[in-house]
Amino acid sequence: MPEKNALRRKGAKPVTTTETLDVQPTPLALLLLGREADAKSERGVECPGELPAPSDPDLVERARAARARLGERVFVLGHHYQRDEVIEFADVTGDSFKLARDAAARPQAEYIVFCGVHFMAESADILTTADQQVILPDLAAGCSMADMATAEQVAECWDVLTEAGIADVTVPVSYMNSSADIKAFTGRHGGTICTSSNAKRALEWAFSQGQKVLFLPDQHLGRNTAVREMGFSLDDCIVYNPHKPGGGVTAEQLRAAKMILWRGHCSVHGRFSLDSVEDVRSRIPGVNVLVHPECKHEVVSAADYVGSTELIIKTLDAAPAGSAWAIGTELNLVRRLAKAHPDKQIVFLDRTVCFCSTMNRIDLPHLVWALESLADGTVVNRIQVDKETEHYAKAALEQMLALP
Ligand code: SF4
Repeated sequence: MPEKNALRRKGAKPVTTTETLDVQPTPLALLLLGREADAKSERGVECPGELPAPSDPDLVERARAARARLGERVFVLGHHYQRDEVIEFADVTGDSFKLARDAAARPQAEYIVFCGVHFMAESADILTTADQQVILPDLAAGCSMADMATAEQVAECWDVLTEAGIADVTVPVSYMNSSADIKAFTGRHGGTICTSSNAKRALEWAFSQGQKVLFLPDQHLGRNTAVREMGFSLDDCIVYNPHKPGGGVTAEQLRAAKMILWRGHCSVHGRFSLDSVEDVRSRIPGVNVLVHPECKHEVVSAADYVGSTELIIKTLDAAPAGSAWAIGTELNLVRRLAKAHPDKQIVFLDRTVCFCSTMNRIDLPHLVWALESLADGTVVNRIQVDKETEHYAKAALEQMLALP
């Protein structure tokens, strides 16, 4: 079970029962696209060759046939938030770091087809051998959170910290959900990567190395970990806004802060609100509210349990029959968990639909297209991190693996 929330509600317990679009890509475009994206087309990127029609009744059979032709040469990774139609073809499922490690443990697989988003495919490329090629079935599958911190913005932030006289006592800690460029920045500056499972250990290590942390790119995970789990106050945290001069804060504020939080968030988990927690409690008496730490601080504070995706899965596996749960994470996963546990009442925390729209761009037609192209000898949508970026990003990932 995840750590019980210090503010657990009393009585919460298991119960028995364009025309030509003249637009430029911006870091915060409404539809966030991966690298090599074309902001002028709805699809975002071209798919060379024929993309099967979603209505093709033979899609499942075509995916099976292409897989069979590829045999052991292909390894398909499915992130927990993927559609069912894609998960069906995954050799393994998991969160982004687990999947990247799974790929690294399969050196015989020539092709790693990553059904996830761009930063995940980059991490897999960093951790796999030079002979393995990582494929992202739709290059438009980016991540809004990862796209909220660009290399240029982060370099500018470091200049601001340098001018404030604190860069040499600040350790960068970057969430796994960041681009390879940001991971490399972290490695270059002696920092570490973290996941939602080990964020506390990463912060403890960082504070043993320096006096302050620059936490990228998810302000909520940084704040929730520092305040809920490490005894910092909200006043110890400051938000650096890359869209404002100097981050929108003064040098004095930066010097006073312990946690400098990048102004980034997940557009899925950021949707859950205190209202949704109160609403579900009124609808389902005795419901247990279990949320991901990427949710806002007030949501996490009002929940009964907080945990990473893997912990959410384990918690529901261990929950008693008849217990009721409201889950604050991506809807595809919550639906699958509800289906897998018919003896428990499992509902989505919010009343509105909350899929990860970029993750959902990987659908069966794109998977079939990628697998058939590979089986025909054409490598499509390869994600490749350049050597220098890989070197420093790997240093930051290795620091995470070495965390005490
Ligand atoms: S759920 Fe959030 S953090 Fe995960 S890929 Fe989607 S936008 Fe990014």
